[in-house]
Amino acid sequence: MKKHNFSAGPCILPQEVFNEASQAILDFDNSGLSIIEISHRSKAFIAVMEEAQNLALELLGLEGKGYKALFLQGGASTQFLMAAYNLLQSKAGYINTGSWSAKAIKEAKLFGDVVEIASSKDANFNYIPKGYEIPSGLDYVHCTSNNTIFGTQIKEFPKVDCPLICDMSSDIFSRELDFSQFGIIYAGAQKNMGPAGTTLVVIKEDILGKVDRQIPSMLDYQVHLGKDSMFNTPPVFAVYTSMLTLKWLKKLGGVAAIAEQNEKKAKLIYSEIDLNPLFKGFAAKEDRSTMNATFTLTDESLKETFDTMCAEAGINGVNGHRSVGGYRASMYNAMTLESVAALVDVMSDLERKA
Ligand SMILES: *Cc1c(COP(=O)(O)O)cnc(C)c1O
Repeated sequence: MKKHNFSAGPCILPQEVFNEASQAILDFDNSGLSIIEISHRSKAFIAVMEEAQNLALELLGLEGKGYKALFLQGGASTQFLMAAYNLLQSKAGYINTGSWSAKAIKEAKLFGDVVEIASSKDANFNYIPKGYEIPSGLDYVHCTSNNTIFGTQIKEFPKVDCPLICDMSSDIFSRELDFSQFGIIYAGAQKNMGPAGTTLVVIKEDILGKVDRQIPSMLDYQVHLGKDSMFNTPPVFAVYTSMLTLKWLKKLGGVAAIAEQNEKKAKLIYSEIDLNPLFKGFAAKEDRSTMNATFTLTDESLKETFDTMCAEAGINGVNGHRSVGGYRASMYNAMTLESVAALVDVMSDLERKA
């Protein structure tokens, strides 16, 4: 039986995407060939890449606004250094909202001065800093829209007079935003878009070309842009499967439609967390993520009982990250309201039993 998969990443994808991707491994579009054995320079694969790029820009409302989409390798973690390599001339500002932001800061320091504009480290990253000042003269400001580990999400982005770079790995395509406020958006595919192996990088082209240093080809955005994301062999299966997910999302009604479902799922779980005396939410209420709900048991001795009940109900992947403990329910786009309801049922069953 298919489980309710709350895993934080790699994670759930739509069942029809699993089916279609499996079929394409065996026989891609009745071509007599597998998607993973055809040339990435073939007409058929170039069409896949173009469709994936176009869908990404279309779903973000960025068509015709000077942006291009790349599907690169090396995970979001490579973007931590690539963004700095390509844009950090002297000084950049970073908002530190958790482990992923901290990793981005560490990499950027190799290329120039890094100002930590704001941080929520003082409270183990359970909130999003607000009301901070942004110094002038920065090459860019970097932020993490959704903190996968801590379950917080930026609702209002800083207003800046330089490019705003955003790591959207765990909430891309999940909610409506003015995406044109960002100079670069990047996201590892494996949280809300596809299998691990590719990273979507959406770039406003006119922010590039402003640093003096030499950049190795594979780490140079302009090289990848010049070759339409085909500078070297792209991760063909990850790009194809991501394209299928983006097609699924478009058919569903796009970001606006999925955002509405995501709100419903989040409301359902957070109201249980707030009403059930056996559970306590980790993140500050106003900063709660719609993608990753973090919570703990108020009575740790119930852990084994709760874990067993979850397993019996087919619930997978709800263990919290070691830096927070407790539980984390990741509810990415492909998760149904029914699956969230199944978890909520187990939580209220525990209250009845305890
Ligand atoms: C998972 C995650 C990453 C790391 O992604 P990789 O593709 O494994 O490098 C970076 N940032 C955020 C917000 C994440 O959730």
